[in-house]
Amino acid sequence: MSSDQTHVIVGASLAGAKAAETLREEGFDGRIVLVGSEEERPYERPPLSKDYLRGEVGREKVYVHEENFYVEHDIELQLGRTAVALDTDSFELELDGGERLSYDRLLLTTGAEPRRLSVPGAELDGVFYLRDVRDSDALRERFDRGGAVVVVGAGWIGSEVAASARQRGLDVTVIEPASVPLERVLGKEIGAVYGEVHVDHGARMLMGTGVEVLEGNGAVERVRTSDGRVIDCDFVVVAVGVQPRTALAADAGLAISNGIFVDARLRTNAPGVFAAGDVANAQHPFYDEPIRVEHWANALNQGPAAARNMLGQTVPYDRLPYFFSDQYDVGMEYSGLARGCDRVVVRGDLAEREFVAFWMFEDRVMAGMNVNVWDVTEEIRRLIGERIPVTDRQLADTDLPLEQLATTTRRSVA
Ligand SMILES: Cc1cc2nc3c(=O)[nH]c(=O)nc-3n(C[C@H](O)[C@H](O)[C@H](O)COP(=O)(O)OP(=O)(O)OC[C@H]3O[C@@H](n4cnc5c(N)ncnc54)[C@H](O)[C@@H]3O)c2cc1C
Repeated sequence: MSSDQTHVIVGASLAGAKAAETLREEGFDGRIVLVGSEEERPYERPPLSKDYLRGEVGREKVYVHEENFYVEHDIELQLGRTAVALDTDSFELELDGGERLSYDRLLLTTGAEPRRLSVPGAELDGVFYLRDVRDSDALRERFDRGGAVVVVGAGWIGSEVAASARQRGLDVTVIEPASVPLERVLGKEIGAVYGEVHVDHGARMLMGTGVEVLEGNGAVERVRTSDGRVIDCDFVVVAVGVQPRTALAADAGLAISNGIFVDARLRTNAPGVFAAGDVANAQHPFYDEPIRVEHWANALNQGPAAARNMLGQTVPYDRLPYFFSDQYDVGMEYSGLARGCDRVVVRGDLAEREFVAFWMFEDRVMAGMNVNVWDVTEEIRRLIGERIPVTDRQLADTDLPLEQLATTTRRSVA
């Protein structure tokens, strides 16, 4: 490892910060520059729709590292700086203001940004998005004033914001074109459980309809839905998904396909340039196809894997996707990918909201979600990762410990 090398990371968030940490941990003693558009040092976003948004924890709880970490590890943190151009022939990165940085290795962890609502009135005041800590601060202040909020979109972030708003006592209406919340990931049956949770906590769930127009005099005052309803409100939160921030990479001619396309070692098609986190569509050895994961654990683990590959190690990123969500008193963890599944098997009690759901293809578990059931993630991941054949009956049988199922085969437990 040569101390005259410079490794630059663009995107000072979870993936980027963990990559910088790993470069040092692995003994890289050259220059590390971590460039981030935000003024804030790297922080974690999950609290921004949960306890931080509700005002239950402060700013100090969200940071990835202590304030002095970067100085202590000789990591140059360039905050409030945006990388505006990348020249992969000359190995140079240009920052706003014109400064040019030469790199030996470059890691792009530019993340994702919220999709915008494109209906008339979307530019009115009082229309909020949630991605960064300033967005969460602004929304928290708005929550403090109470009133009625319309949440557009019942994906993870929309659902969590709706739950936090109800927990703060606001009047909440959720508008979602699908028939149940989270339908795209969970399907109708399990998504319906979340729909009921929200209704039980007093949220109005308008499913199967979209937003036609936002109306108001300067600021939003009401939402018209595509099925003709009119909902008066004081503000609106739009949570209709995110898109990978690929502009810098695309302008530099990197291969883009649902994000920055990288191989299993997180290498782009440009020499010395890697990508990780929400922005990376990475060839996955287990799935044998590229996947892009917009979740915390992926950023947490892919950043370090990229760093090791930047140092010349051979570290294919093969972790199964994992994420978590908390809404009211319902916590969950989800492992795997429910692609191509033909049915869902439930272990436990949907009505009690204490269960594990398994997404199945033939006799294999493709994904599993534990809801208010804890310490089973390892077993679920083993069932998926080791492709252990199981029957629906075995999975649904709560007398048969998952631990046993995950360490054995169908024949020996039947
Ligand atoms: C409100 C909220 C709640 C969430 N809750 C959960 C949860 O409960 N569970 C879960 O698993 N996941 C959750 N997530 C998702 C998780 O936070 C993301 O997967 C994770 O933040 C991705 O990290 P990242 O480092 O890849 O990218 P990001 O966190 O998106 O960071 C990218 C950074 O790069 C910077 N940047 C972009 N372009 C440039 C440039 N050209 N120059 C300099 N800097 C640039 C951006 O400003 C940003 O700071 C949540 C996300 C949000 C927004």
